[in-house]
Amino acid sequence: MNKKYVAPPYRIKMVEPIKITTREERENYLRVAGYNPFSLRSEDVYIDLLTDSGTGAMSQYQWAALMMGDEAYAGSRSFYKLEKVVKQITNYQYVIPAHQGRGAEQVVLPQLVNKEGLYFISNMHFDTTRAHVEMAGARALDCVIDECFDTETYHPFKGNFDVIQLEKIINEKGPENIAGIIMTITNNSAGGQPVSMENMKKVRVIADKYKIRVLIDGARYAENSYFIKQREKGYENKSIEEIALETFALADIFLMSSKKDGLSNIGGLIVIKDDVDLYNKCRTYIVPMEGFPTYGGLAGRDMEALSVGLLEALEEDYLQHRLDQVRFLGDKLREAGVPIQYPTGGHAVFVDCQKFAPHIPYDQFPAQSVCNAVYLEAGVRPVEIGSFLLGRDPDTKENLKSPLELMRLTIPRRTYTYAHLEVVADAVIEVYKNREKLVGLEFDYEPPVLRHFTARLKPKL
Ligand SMILES: *Cc1c(COP(=O)(O)O)cnc(C)c1O
Repeated sequence: MNKKYVAPPYRIKMVEPIKITTREERENYLRVAGYNPFSLRSEDVYIDLLTDSGTGAMSQYQWAALMMGDEAYAGSRSFYKLEKVVKQITNYQYVIPAHQGRGAEQVVLPQLVNKEGLYFISNMHFDTTRAHVEMAGARALDCVIDECFDTETYHPFKGNFDVIQLEKIINEKGPENIAGIIMTITNNSAGGQPVSMENMKKVRVIADKYKIRVLIDGARYAENSYFIKQREKGYENKSIEEIALETFALADIFLMSSKKDGLSNIGGLIVIKDDVDLYNKCRTYIVPMEGFPTYGGLAGRDMEALSVGLLEALEEDYLQHRLDQVRFLGDKLREAGVPIQYPTGGHAVFVDCQKFAPHIPYDQFPAQSVCNAVYLEAGVRPVEIGSFLLGRDPDTKENLKSPLELMRLTIPRRTYTYAHLEVVADAVIEVYKNREKLVGLEFDYEPPVLRHFTARLKPKL
């Protein structure tokens, strides 16, 4: 295994001070936040690893591009610039911007649900994607390979579809009841784990056999492309652009949260290969939801920054350093015996909290308990990806048991140094040493959907 981690292919031109707090202060902040790090003020966080979504640093080229924003309501020059870049990257015909990924989801997914009893099948639905599938009146089924749930064993593509299971589900539910297959690349919910080209090709063959459309939920398609280059035979010498084009050729619709591999602080994309009917439906529907189809909730300057960011995210120097940062943090934790999803994925290190705190039952949210302890230890804010996030069954209202209880340490793009990541590793290791002291949590307030964003909890004593 390569032990070297490349230094950043950039230097620092502007700095944003961050505050170190005392443990006593943090205890107070966390109590006020209802033991839910989402409710902390960012000012009270030293190193913020809640998400890599919109939290990255823009380049000088992006900042310069902001000045070029054309703020026309209709037909903005900045839209045509963005459209050109997106067509070049995807080779798709139709581009509609949205304010972020879920904006794209809320416009497209209802267009694909024209009757009751429909299903979407994904390797693993992201939480907002699942929510929009359900709000559109369909159901979301996941079928990722079993290796994904075995955090200790190496597999180069833990985001892969279980293609046998996929075909079984299609036959069980009936192909006419499958509204679409969603390839989530990388597989965010399981550790930013990549999906191989070979696997995506198999999914396409199955989709063609049953005449089902394929969507890419591709917030991190550039990171996925880099993993394919690193780990899949036959792709060593291909450029990231070529791998991305080959990926997009396998789908019909590309939805993107461009707050990730768009290297922008806001933005989303609906990109349609050639279905002009669907394009027209989306263009009509987006007006009351996100805005006129040449801005979709974005300012002209946002579209400018995104046009530049999309291309920077495909640069190999950038991708290598990005994935090395994640691997660096993962290696530090593994060397200290902390159980993590291995190998590390594209945007985060996922700590396996079933193994970390086995004494806490799933409906007392073991990973959330670890997240809180890490915040108390060093002012580092991680996020829970487990049963707390998964929520309740829409039919029975029972707490769903997540197959994985994860603490996600999400690395913002081009934002923190290796030294910050050492602070993070030390904090997690310290909590791990005292893990038997961790206690579970119970609800003080539980909202009906996407509860993890606003719920209030308290320690179960
Ligand atoms: C972030 C994300 C979304 C939702 O995008 P937002 O920009 O947060 O609305 C959808 N799917 C995946 C895989 C994501 O990572």
